[in-house]
Amino acid sequence: MKRMLRLGVSLRTRLTLWYGALLAVTLLAFSGLVYFTLQQSLASSLDERLTLRAEQLRREVGPSIGNLLQPEDVAPGVQLQSTLSEFVGTGVYVQLLNQKAAVIATPPNLVGEQLPVPTSSQEAIQEDRPIFDTVPVQNNARVRLLTQPLHLEGTDEVVGAVQVAESLSPLENTMSAVSRLLLAADAGALLLAVVVGWLLTRAALSPVFRITDTARHIAATGDYRQRIHVSPPRFGHGDELFFLAATFNDMIARLEHMLESQRRLLADTSHELRNPITIIRGNLALLRRQNIPDSTRAEAIVEAEEEAARMGRLVADLLLLARADTGEVASFQRERVDLGELATEVVEQARPRAAAHNLSVACDSRCVVLGDRDRLKQLVTNLVENAIRYTPAGGRVDVRVQGITALQQRGTTVRSRNARDSGSSIAMANLTVSDSGIGISSADLPHLFERFYRADKARSRAHGGTGLGLSIAQYIVHVHGGSIEASSDGTNRGSTFTVRLPLAPRADPARPIAPPPAPVAISR
Ligand code: ADP
Repeated sequence: MKRMLRLGVSLRTRLTLWYGALLAVTLLAFSGLVYFTLQQSLASSLDERLTLRAEQLRREVGPSIGNLLQPEDVAPGVQLQSTLSEFVGTGVYVQLLNQKAAVIATPPNLVGEQLPVPTSSQEAIQEDRPIFDTVPVQNNARVRLLTQPLHLEGTDEVVGAVQVAESLSPLENTMSAVSRLLLAADAGALLLAVVVGWLLTRAALSPVFRITDTARHIAATGDYRQRIHVSPPRFGHGDELFFLAATFNDMIARLEHMLESQRRLLADTSHELRNPITIIRGNLALLRRQNIPDSTRAEAIVEAEEEAARMGRLVADLLLLARADTGEVASFQRERVDLGELATEVVEQARPRAAAHNLSVACDSRCVVLGDRDRLKQLVTNLVENAIRYTPAGGRVDVRVQGITALQQRGTTVRSRNARDSGSSIAMANLTVSDSGIGISSADLPHLFERFYRADKARSRAHGGTGLGLSIAQYIVHVHGGSIEASSDGTNRGSTFTVRLPLAPRADPARPIAPPPAPVAISR
């Protein structure tokens, strides 16, 4: 339920609410602090005023009060009452008490009324110390009252007290006006901040809205060419939303590329299958006829068989690449394979078909790699078959296996040393298949490993090629943790294919062979 509620409220609303709530708490705390500080300062200045006035009054009436209050029941004289008149003002009252806290002179500005005498006033007289108190008067009003003891002149004997009071109404009125003002200012600031915050959040989240809209549009239309427009950051490297939008664009681009690849693969596959099917059907139709010469009949059968075999190879290659796409390597063995022996075996098997070529194989060092023998043989076969296929009769095809050091692997020109003198510094097995054939143009080189890519379609088909040989070679190399690259000096200047595979660790019968490496996604 909580989760549903959360999901129901938009991120923008949530952010604004959080921000508003935080601001409200801050403003209220700040206003409370201002209110409290002001109240304290006004109250203490009121107390200071009362103290000052009480002190002046005491100085004024002090010398004569002793006589007036002796004996205790002496009534206040007219003179005393007139002295008090000098100390009153609007909202300011003074009153005199005798030793027993009885009123002996009432405030002249309170006609017939007197100030209340709270117990704190009696305490002030008894304990001989000034005491402040807040006491209620008529009409729900309150006064701040100071009781200051009076001494007999020249002695410590308390003979009574002056009471000085000031109405709290001005202070209370000021404070309620301040509180109203603060609340109004708080509400105004909060409203403004929430409105501005709401607008700013919209601006800040606009990339998120754009991402959502684009994602929705792509989902609805299936148009993967759509992108979110992200303007490059003016400062620094961009914020999180910029990276989110850029990542989203990147993801869509990859999806588009994948879909495009799939579409192309499907089109290429159907095209590749249609050709042999057409030929086989044509030949079958020819074979149905009664009056055809035996030689034509035999040719038609051979051609149909060749096309059927090509279809079989194509389907097998496609299946292998489909497994490559899903990252499946479980079917790959992990055994010790001598790459030199394997290359020699492949060359010897190809020799009968390459009678018109000058075929050579050389192994400079013993290079044992860990991998699937059949797949590695398929890799070398694909490269050797290609070299023969794309080299005219009389041309040269050289296969060479050697160990290379990490230094050479990084591209130094140091010539290869054999295993005996390079010792344990050899890091990789290097297999090169070079030919003196038709070569590869620089325009074709970057695309060679793409599925169904052929520099010369007619020649490839004529030789039974499926257009998948190099894609498969690349897949096998990657699964074995190696690399493959093609180079050529240009058309008719021969080509060289170089495969690098990590050498197997030294043989240790007790040690089980490590599991295959993580699957590698092969790009088309
Ligand atoms: P195919 O079955 O067509 O040979 P591959 O994937 O093995 O398919 O090769 C892809 C393309 O690369 C070939 O069609 C050819 O144009 C080019 N190619 C491959 N090997 C060589 C080579 N040794 N010399 C020249 N071109 C080559």
